[in-house]
Amino acid sequence: MDYTDLYIDGQWQKGAAGDRFDVINPATEEVLASVASAGVEDADAALDAAARAMADWAARTPRQRSEVLRRAWELMTARLDHFAHLITLENGKAGADARGEATYAAEFFRWFAEEAVRADGLITRAPASGARIVVQHKPAGLAVLVTPWNYPAAMGTRKIAPALAAGCGVVIKPASETPLTMLALMPLLEEAGVPPGLVNVLPSGRTGALVDHMLHDPRVRVVSFTGSTGVGRKLLQSAADQVLKPAMELGGNAPCIVFEDADMDTAIEGTMLAKMRNLGEACTAANRIYVHEDVAEAFTRRLTGRMAALKTGDGTDPTVDVGPLVNAETRDKVAAFVADAVAKGAKVECGGEAPAGKGFYYPPTVLSGVSEDAACVQDEIFGPVAAIQTFSDQEDVIRRANATEYGLVAYVFSGDFKRAMQVCERLDYGMVGLNRGLVSDPAAPFGGTKQSGLGREGGHEGMLEFMETQYISADW
Ligand code: NAP
Repeated sequence: MDYTDLYIDGQWQKGAAGDRFDVINPATEEVLASVASAGVEDADAALDAAARAMADWAARTPRQRSEVLRRAWELMTARLDHFAHLITLENGKAGADARGEATYAAEFFRWFAEEAVRADGLITRAPASGARIVVQHKPAGLAVLVTPWNYPAAMGTRKIAPALAAGCGVVIKPASETPLTMLALMPLLEEAGVPPGLVNVLPSGRTGALVDHMLHDPRVRVVSFTGSTGVGRKLLQSAADQVLKPAMELGGNAPCIVFEDADMDTAIEGTMLAKMRNLGEACTAANRIYVHEDVAEAFTRRLTGRMAALKTGDGTDPTVDVGPLVNAETRDKVAAFVADAVAKGAKVECGGEAPAGKGFYYPPTVLSGVSEDAACVQDEIFGPVAAIQTFSDQEDVIRRANATEYGLVAYVFSGDFKRAMQVCERLDYGMVGLNRGLVSDPAAPFGGTKQSGLGREGGHEGMLEFMETQYISADW
């Protein structure tokens, strides 16, 4: 591996303490690389560098910032295979999935290159005094970015691109399972014209202390986190001390509702995508599949056929559809969800048993007749398990779909557009896929309600997460 040290101020550094930790290939369980582990001294150095670089970057014109981001998109798009390969090696996802992520990740640079020049403001007159109300947006300050392992490239670029478009400097802490892709992105950003120090990458084996230290540095004004709701709560508590702007993309428990009037091909295709993109290791994964009882048997049969036909194996093999899960803990958690559902009456239609041997594999699995009290209905499965329940009544399925602390994304399949829109509007979710199994799009505001998070990434909203609104009351 070429890039395994800390990236601070445009330099590769071993870190003050000289500690390292191993990154494992989940397909083989072999060590891929030994990566430098950042401590608080390194965090200080990274924040110093980001503050220096930001002074110049924020003063550049929007067009100048935009052109650097546009170049980053061009360079990444020209090297998709390279990034896809790295993603597969450290995360495990199969080739097509990894290439899809690399493309999605690169698109954030293009989208925010376009948004960088559209930080619109407002001038109006105060109704009573007649004074001018001038409203504009300014870079909020340094941003600390913390990302998960399930999208090693895209969860980073979804934050870096809007932060840079807004004029902010950043320190990014990638997940310990998958730091290599983000490190490998840094030479590309240099080539695109990102100045030294503006983006710093700090992998760490001492994450909690490192991030907490940075959130208490007075120069930091934004914390943008993607990961579990539990860690998100902790970061919100730390962020409270300095009243930071928080952007929180947290866990999900997506319902996927298939009505009896749905086009079955569309519903199967959409459910496969919503369930199996990233082999189910996605906050957007269809976690609870509710199928109308009139079509449940046919739907289950067809979905089982599709799931059973997927080829599992090392994601570097181009014929493989489904790679390993990211680590043993995730695989064992998935196995425990299946065992619990079966103990509570579910039937295994396919899969359902982890193979022996090396690699953290779990086969594509379909469960029918899953009971409402099964653990996989309450929590994120984060694996390739389709848990099917049935319903007969629209009101009942809306109630069940909303009965969770999460509110990230829901999916609805129906051929009756009026009914479908009525149902979508009653779902307490930040996003709904209607007759589609994919909602993620750099041009759309991605994010959840309830305990799935705060704020939005992508769309017009994404850059505002890194900006402060300033209002000037002017008399001229
Ligand atoms: P995680 O355990 O919360 O870890 C996410 C990141 O937080 C990692 O970089 C991790 O570092 C860091 N972290 C862990 N403990 C921390 C602490 N005490 N203080 C500061 N940072 C800390 O989540 P994960 O298991 O990687 O990812 C899966 C979760 O992410 C799922 O719940 C999924 O739904 C959610 N997710 C949400 C979205 C969304 O957009 N809503 C997208 C993707 C994933 P280490 O790796 O070093 O522990």
